[in-house]
Amino acid sequence: MEQNETIHLQPVNKFVLKDLATPTKINWCPGCGDFGILMGLKNAVVELKKEQHEIFLISGIGCSSKTPYWVKLYGYNGLHGRALPFATGLKLANHALTVIVVGGDGDGYSEGGNHFMHACRRNIDMTYIVFNNQVYGLTTGQASPTSEKGFKTKATPDPVIEEPVNPVALAIAAGATYVARAYAGDVQHLKRIIIDAVAHKGFAFIDVLQPCVTFNHHNTFDFYKQRLYKLEDEQFDFTDKAKAFVRAQEWGEKIPIGLFFKVERDTYESQVPALQKEVLLKQSLDMRKQVGDVMREFS
Ligand code: SF4
Repeated sequence: MEQNETIHLQPVNKFVLKDLATPTKINWCPGCGDFGILMGLKNAVVELKKEQHEIFLISGIGCSSKTPYWVKLYGYNGLHGRALPFATGLKLANHALTVIVVGGDGDGYSEGGNHFMHACRRNIDMTYIVFNNQVYGLTTGQASPTSEKGFKTKATPDPVIEEPVNPVALAIAAGATYVARAYAGDVQHLKRIIIDAVAHKGFAFIDVLQPCVTFNHHNTFDFYKQRLYKLEDEQFDFTDKAKAFVRAQEWGEKIPIGLFFKVERDTYESQVPALQKEVLLKQSLDMRKQVGDVMREFS
């Protein structure tokens, strides 16, 4: 090699898949779509080229919200619908962390629906992955905000008479800067979307269609196999918000997955003066001086 020749080193993975294993037994039902999402998430995390301690996984309550138990990263299993507020606080305390939030459609679009809307418009740099099985699985099969009209189960014996929430359209309308949909049965596609979403600077939202084999006998693997197509196969223009919103309405014979919308916008934390010097948790609190300054200001 010539003396002045530059060596270009590729960033390498900091850990491998088996390093993410935990001793806790997975107790999802056999055949649940959650397994595909877990694999997509773990494979994506390995390829982020980060250390395990740099990634934090946060959840609410539900079958999918057990995920942090089964991925060896920093993790937190929180309150029903409250994963996003906790993640927001965490990110503001240490914005150097990569924050990934996971949860279900009941947790995220019902109990946490208000937090979802505000997380979208704030554009805090985090990734929110919703395991959308269109039913409350953990509590034995009640209709959820995304259950289709006419849906019924043993726990919801009368057919649903409401229209379902459209999470993709909602996220676009609320101001999310990265909006995608993936499918639990296509692990490689899901993995690529998660990697792309984490790389995005801002609030990245992924709605993942996930069959619940125990309580949702309508939105099955077969249902999706017959309907799903990928937006990238059509060279879809994900920078056009109006087109993204129109495509988000498509649900029937054909259902799109992939990236619907992506735009660059300042993150929330990049506009907070107190966070510009360094991460908050490394800053000296110096409480006596701060309290003294406040007392003098108001005396
Ligand atoms: Fe999966 Fe449904 Fe079983 Fe929950 S109840 S683990 S979502 S199959």
